[in-house]
Amino acid sequence: ESSLPATTTNSYECCICETEFETEDTSWCPAYSGPICSLCCSLDGRCQDMCKPHGRAAEQVPLFLSTFLPRRAVSMLDSRLGRFAAVLLIGSTVIGLLFALVYYHMAADAGTNAPLVARTLWVLYYISIIIAGVFGWILLLAHESRSSAQAESNRQTQRLLEEIDAHSETDLALQEAKELAEAANLAKSRYLSGISHELRTPLQSILGYTQLLSRDPSIPEHRQDAIGIMQRSGEHLADLIEGLLDISRIEAGRLEIHRSQVDLRVLLDQLVQMFSSEAKSRGIEFGFQCSPQLPRYVHTDEKQLRQILINLLSNAVKFTQEGRVDFNVRYRFQVVEFTVTDTGIGISDEQLELIFKPFERITSASRPQVSGTGLGLTIARLLTELMGGELVVSSKVGEGSRFAVTLMMSSIEQPVITAAVQQHITGYEGQVRNVLVIDDETNHRQLMADLLSPLGFNVFAAAHGEACLQRSDLATMDLLLVDVSMPGMSGYELVKQLRADSITAPIIMVSADATEYHDADVSKKLHNDYIAKPVKLTSLLEKIAHHAGLTWRYQLPETSAGGTSSFLPADGPEPVEAESATATAQNDFSHPLFAELRSSASMGYIKGVRDVLQRIRSLALCTSKTLTELEDAARYMQFDKLEQLTRNAEPGSDEPPGDKQ
Ligand code: ADP
Repeated sequence: ESSLPATTTNSYECCICETEFETEDTSWCPAYSGPICSLCCSLDGRCQDMCKPHGRAAEQVPLFLSTFLPRRAVSMLDSRLGRFAAVLLIGSTVIGLLFALVYYHMAADAGTNAPLVARTLWVLYYISIIIAGVFGWILLLAHESRSSAQAESNRQTQRLLEEIDAHSETDLALQEAKELAEAANLAKSRYLSGISHELRTPLQSILGYTQLLSRDPSIPEHRQDAIGIMQRSGEHLADLIEGLLDISRIEAGRLEIHRSQVDLRVLLDQLVQMFSSEAKSRGIEFGFQCSPQLPRYVHTDEKQLRQILINLLSNAVKFTQEGRVDFNVRYRFQVVEFTVTDTGIGISDEQLELIFKPFERITSASRPQVSGTGLGLTIARLLTELMGGELVVSSKVGEGSRFAVTLMMSSIEQPVITAAVQQHITGYEGQVRNVLVIDDETNHRQLMADLLSPLGFNVFAAAHGEACLQRSDLATMDLLLVDVSMPGMSGYELVKQLRADSITAPIIMVSADATEYHDADVSKKLHNDYIAKPVKLTSLLEKIAHHAGLTWRYQLPETSAGGTSSFLPADGPEPVEAESATATAQNDFSHPLFAELRSSASMGYIKGVRDVLQRIRSLALCTSKTLTELEDAARYMQFDKLEQLTRNAEPGSDEPPGDKQ
């Protein structure tokens, strides 16, 4: 039997009226499975007195009879007939008494008619007994069916309660399973990205050496084919690894959308230039239509948008053997719709959803053998969804396909052209500033020195937190660039220590992993800013200027011959000074894009490298010979060579950061 649960307050809250009552006024109600106050208990009729299972007449009477009657007689009496007999006995006795009373009153006045009255009353009595018997039987049956209905309802309620309990247990198990699955998924993504990083390094050497071998005249002709296959397979593997890395980054939530002001005209120009020449080389036409309402500057994530469009456009060109590819951009109510339509081989209805799954490629005898990884559309769709948009496809086999990406993009009426982009920074006003770079990667320390020394900064370097703390000149530093993840003391621990040692210079955290920033709640407030690798020179300079209070000195851009070959209408706000494509006869390695290229190369970030090279090509920042060399190096993932090629001509870059210590 259940009783009230123990309490320290000597009071309980009634589960019906939700009022506090003292222990004496409450009891445990099995019907409501909770404490109930005496008032609610007496008012409630639905509980069927579940708390007193032996308190009802139906239980009490047989108990009483069994004290003087044999058990068999009691059970006969407790049967349906026994109960009927009891009801009939009680009924006929009451009716008999009533008729006796009537006879007693009438007999005195009836005189000689008294026997007649008596006979009449006897007849009436017998009739009444028959009627009472019928009613009694009906009542008994009604009572029995009500009791069995009640018992059934109680049983069902009990079952429901058991089911609810079972459901909450299943819910709990489901929740645990979900958490487990999520943890496993996260582990999978981590493992995937870890293993991809590991695979990339040896692959670079494989690709490098296959390239060397393919140029080796001592290797016989028939072996060259094998080397060609090795090279193509290596390149395919590299694409797969890049794609997997992208997917694992998105799935693990590590890929963040960084919206910034984007010059759509420049972006679309680059894409159109890139794909119109590719389409031309494949003998198909390329059309570009753009609605006049399209604003020139919008808020979006340029890198991700570019990747989505490149995937769709390259597919359209790849899978179209004759006819045309059309790239259409429409803008209405802050929503851009990019459509890529082709007259290619098309996709059947069953395969339309499949193509968005990783590694799904449609292969059939009628389709041309085109290289690919089967990851492009998966990434494009994931990225579109991450940016809050939608990617839809419609296609007919043999007629062509239409891919449409819809994205919300607010237009910018008054574009803020960052000085660093439009003008070339040559230095800053005032005294020389000291910058300390703390990073375990030699390449990164070198890169920072290469970026900042030419602008007049004294760049010092430390390879780890301990080395930084041992320096005696910490107080003379004007700015610190601290890597987040370093072996031993982490970046955030170092910052804590530095602040504890009263180093007040502004600190900018630098990290390859955007999530590291969010993990660092504890010392969040101790640093001044955060920048993600690959470090963009423009944003780094903006942050440095902001925190060190610098005013930049600019070299005004020279007027260049030639102009931008824009595919877009020239309406919309004109930038003060746009990056322009010129036919150039010399290399402009001081352009920030080369710093960005080196930064991406030092990270081994091939997509970044390819992107920057595209921009360098469209802006014609170097001679075509250098461009070919750079593109070759990128193709074969020779990151060191890329850095070397672009650094050679840069002034003051030979000086390693450590030299200034
Ligand atoms: P990949 O192009 O690397 O094979 P994707 O994920 O980009 O991988 O595309 C998956 C598949 O979808 C392709 O293999 C191709 O069969 C099909 N596909 C994609 N775009 C088109 C298109 N425009 N026309 C016909 N088929 C297409």
